[in-house]
Amino acid sequence: MSEAGGARAALNAAAARFAFSPTARLDAELLLAHALGITRERLLLTLGDVVPPPGFAALVERRARHEPVAYITGTRAFWTIDLDVAPGVLIPRPDSETLIEAAVEHFAGTPGPRTILDLGTGSGALLLAALDQWPHASGVGIDASAMAIAVAARNAARLAPGRATIASGDWTGTGAAFDLVLCNPPYVAAAAALPHEVADYEPASALFAGADGLDDYRRLAVTLGPQIAPGGVACVEIGADQGQSAPPLFRAEGLTVTVRRDLAGRDRCLVITP
Ligand code: GLN
Repeated sequence: MSEAGGARAALNAAAARFAFSPTARLDAELLLAHALGITRERLLLTLGDVVPPPGFAALVERRARHEPVAYITGTRAFWTIDLDVAPGVLIPRPDSETLIEAAVEHFAGTPGPRTILDLGTGSGALLLAALDQWPHASGVGIDASAMAIAVAARNAARLAPGRATIASGDWTGTGAAFDLVLCNPPYVAAAAALPHEVADYEPASALFAGADGLDDYRRLAVTLGPQIAPGGVACVEIGADQGQSAPPLFRAEGLTVTVRRDLAGRDRCLVITP
C-alpha cells in the first residue's frame, strides 16, 4: 500500500468509528491534522504525502469514547477566530454566531459598537469574535467559573491584546452600560437528554438552567436593561424551543424583544433594546 493509501485508509477507518457523530469525516481529518501538527487545509492539500503518526490511534480512541474533538485538539473555530478550549469551558457552537450576525445587522451603517460586554463569556468566544469584527472596540468578558476565566484570559491576550478584560462576576455585570451586550447563558432544562459528548464532557454549569431551562433568563431579565447603552443592543442566545417562553420575561421588564433565527431556521437569538 502506498503512503497516500495509508493516510486515506486511516481517515476512513477513523470516520467509521465515529458513526455517532454527524461530522465523522471532519472529526477524523481534524484529529489527523492535530496529530501531524498541521492545519486541516494543509492536510487535505498534502494527503498524498502524509503518513499517520503513531499518536493518531490514541486520539481516535478518545473520540470513539465520544470526547469532543475540540477538547482533544484544544481548539475550535468560531466566526473569524480560532479559540483555545479546554474541559470546564463550553465549546463554541456555530449556532452562537447568530448573535454576532444580529449585532452586525443592528450596527450596520454606523461605526459599530465601541464598548462590548459578554456575560457568561466561557472561552471568550462571543466577546473576541465581536472585537475581531469591530477592531476599534474594547470589551469585558464576565464569567462565574474560574476555569472559564483562565481560558478566556488566555484567548483575550492572544486575539485582542489590550482590548479585552476578563473578570469574575454574574448577570449583574460591571455596573456600566455597553453599546453591545452579548450573552449565551445556560438554557437547557434539567431533565433534557443531551448527546453523550455534551452531557459527559461539557460543564453542567454552562448548560443547565433549572426545571424549564429559563432560570438564568429570569435573573438576567431583571439586570439587563441598565447594562445596554442608549442606541445599543443586547443579543441573548436561546434554545430552539424558547422563542415563545423567553421574550415575555424581558418584555415584563420594559425591554423590546425580537427573535432571530439561526442558519437552520430555528429560533436562536433574542435581540433586545431598551
Ligand atoms: N446549545 C447548547 C447545547 O444544547 C446549549 C448551550 C447553552 O445552554 N448555552 O448543546
